[in-house]
Amino acid sequence: MKVWRSRVGGAETVTAPKRGSTFIGVDVGGTKILGLVTDGVSANAVDRELQATPKHDPDALAPAILGVVETLLARNDAVVGVGVGVPGLVDHAGVLHYGPNVQGVLGLDIAGRLNQTFSIPAVAENDGYLTALTEHRLGAARGHDHAIVVTQGTGIGGGLIVGGQVLRGANGFAGEPGHMLVNRFGHRCACGSTGCWESVSSGAGLANLARDVVDEGQGGAILAAAGDDPARIRGEHVSAAYDAGDPGAIETMRRFSFWVAEGIGSLIALLDPSIVVLGGGLSTISGGFLDEVASQVADSVVGGPYRPVVPIVPADFGAEAGAVGAGLRARDFVING
Ligand SMILES: [Zn+2]
Repeated sequence: MKVWRSRVGGAETVTAPKRGSTFIGVDVGGTKILGLVTDGVSANAVDRELQATPKHDPDALAPAILGVVETLLARNDAVVGVGVGVPGLVDHAGVLHYGPNVQGVLGLDIAGRLNQTFSIPAVAENDGYLTALTEHRLGAARGHDHAIVVTQGTGIGGGLIVGGQVLRGANGFAGEPGHMLVNRFGHRCACGSTGCWESVSSGAGLANLARDVVDEGQGGAILAAAGDDPARIRGEHVSAAYDAGDPGAIETMRRFSFWVAEGIGSLIALLDPSIVVLGGGLSTISGGFLDEVASQVADSVVGGPYRPVVPIVPADFGAEAGAVGAGLRARDFVING
């Protein structure tokens, strides 16, 4: 049996995988770990495994990831590579250094652990990188060499496509648009900082803005939907109140669109993309949301009237984008290292 080494020790040169080979792509989310078995070039999954993410025990994360992989390996004997996406700073060797949503998990060599345990080529990446890879190869950013992919969930994920590649940066940590600082006097972020874009443009950010509106005496329907407890306000409460025509919810969405547009305008000024892809549940929160963001971006981006309009479009992939991308990356890794 061929013994593989992880990227820590340098990958071996290999030829293209045999026909019929499959790959495991794993995405570690805030609540669930999803594993898919794919052909590494499409999103078609021939098997899947879902387990809960251990939230309160940092030492349990690696065994949980290994457990998902072990289960899928036991059922699929054509698997030749594994890719894993995790929410945090993952270096070029596949070591997770830090993640605000996986507190306490520091210096975890995910790729190395998989490689040692199963003697199989394994690679770990930031989950936003993998989502961007999926949208670039198979989804809404296909054919665009310069694109921004932003996923608005509880937090903000994403990736930046520059020159036909998803940008990695010097350490592998590039592409964290959620932690761009947009207002140092604003809301606290999950990362511990204050004023990150995520604190006003994610699901948690929408709730922060709704609480501001409630503090100002508006948003009665939002508060009622949250059981009259401002601490319990969530994005779906704003959405329900918005659909019911609540003025406070409309004001909340106006501020939310403003902040989303601020961040996208800055990213466009920085990277000059030909498309912006917005994913995650929030992009569908109201019918006119994307149009509203697009019109504000056009007004605020530098030289707006003198540059082409950058389309802002919904993502093609939903919750499985990260796991699909992990499968794509696993195949790349087996071929190229
Ligand atoms: Zn932050």
